Amino acid sequence: MKRYSAFALAREALRDHTGWKRAWEKAQPKAHYDVIIIGAGGHGLATAYYLGKNHGITNVAVLEKGWLGGGNTGRNTTIIRSNYLQDPSAAIYEKARSLYETLSQELNYNIMYSPRGVMMLAQTEHEVRGYRRTAQANALQGVTTEFITPQRVQELVPIIDISGPRYPVLGALWQPRAGTARHDAVAWGYARACSDMGMDIIQQCEVTAVRQEGGKVTGVETTRGAIGCNRLGIVVAGHSGVMAEKAGFRLPIESVALQALVSEPIKPCMDVVVMANTVHGYMSQSDKGEMVIGGGADGYNNYTQRGSFHHIEETARALVETFPMISRLKMLRQWGGIVDMTGDRSPIISPTPLAGCYINCGWGTGGFKAIPGSGWAMADMMANGRPGPLCAEFGLDRFRQGRFVDESVAAGVAH
Ligand SMILES: Cc1cc2nc3c(=O)[nH]c(=O)nc-3n(C[C@H](O)[C@H](O)[C@H](O)COP(=O)(O)OP(=O)(O)OC[C@H]3O[C@@H](n4cnc5c(N)ncnc54)[C@H](O)[C@@H]3O)c2cc1C
Repeated sequence: MKRYSAFALAREALRDHTGWKRAWEKAQPKAHYDVIIIGAGGHGLATAYYLGKNHGITNVAVLEKGWLGGGNTGRNTTIIRSNYLQDPSAAIYEKARSLYETLSQELNYNIMYSPRGVMMLAQTEHEVRGYRRTAQANALQGVTTEFITPQRVQELVPIIDISGPRYPVLGALWQPRAGTARHDAVAWGYARACSDMGMDIIQQCEVTAVRQEGGKVTGVETTRGAIGCNRLGIVVAGHSGVMAEKAGFRLPIESVALQALVSEPIKPCMDVVVMANTVHGYMSQSDKGEMVIGGGADGYNNYTQRGSFHHIEETARALVETFPMISRLKMLRQWGGIVDMTGDRSPIISPTPLAGCYINCGWGTGGFKAIPGSGWAMADMMANGRPGPLCAEFGLDRFRQGRFVDESVAAGVAH
């Protein structure tokens, strides 16, 4: 891999940029791999990366039906935080957040991690109690958060109307080292590092069936032919239920469209991420100046990557209450992605009933922030054949045993 640096940039500037190599090789499928990962989103690519980096397993293919990062990884609103309530959640999200801190240096790829701080507004007494409790839990978990006053909220975000017509701001849960990163760059950075380790990233290669013999996985059939493997990782987010069915088991997952929108670019006006869970909307400002706005999930199962108009209206109405100045903004784009929701709003990182086949899914509306931690845990499980400490509580068996990791309330607008 050619290192990216100021020196390399200067050198290439002097020779018309003719010396750059492809960021990742355009690979052709081989007949057999030690490991196949289905899905070249952030979680799939991070799994491949940590298989190579932490476990020395590099005979790996990542198969992607579309283009790399074209699923939810390239569609999300990029919020990274780890202020969850339950211990297993805090552990994996904080692992991910801490890996994000140095990921640009590690991958030699600027993922534009911006620890600008995330605040979750408390706009009802119930939320005040809930967030105070989360701040206490976070203190015990080693996650740095605090409950701040409305005056501190106003200092940090001058454009908020804290006296709000319906829901005045009563305080906020504040995580100062939370923030955002450039979503595509996370996928591209991992892909480049995987390719450099000799792994094959194969785009336009849809997995159409899972091959098995005697209850053990032996490979996959794809639109580019059959490919054998010893171990298979399914990491396909909103299509997890579809893929699990091909592998012969069912998942407690529902797939719904979640959507977001961005405004025209404006001058810098807000340098933190604000989530307003009661009115249901959240907002940050991108480096280009656009206000990035997240909305709700459709109330019915579907696979349409677009979302619905009534959500745009509801989200805009909710945010105008809290940020009256955005009422004059024009919206530029709106889009949707298919998210995979579990009943307890926690992920599944687990072996499956098919030996040699592992699944990573259920990140729902909030998995971008987890990518490095999730890849780390999934790689560890696939290398050692059993869940490690980071994902032990996120097994499929928890739904049968009633052992939920309930984040449905703590996660609120769960991003
Ligand atoms: C609008 C929106 C806003 C969001 N905001 C946030 C946020 O602010 N913060 C946050 O933490 N999370 C957020 N999320 C959630 C986050 O984007 C996802 O949890 C995360 O990106 C999931 O990553 P992934 O790698 O598992 O999935 P994906 O990126 O979707 O990757 C899965 C890949 O599998 C591929 N695939 C599917 N079927 C097949 C097949 N048969 N063969 C081969 N390949 C296949 C798909 O094409 C896709 O590229 C948001 C999501 C959306 C939609």
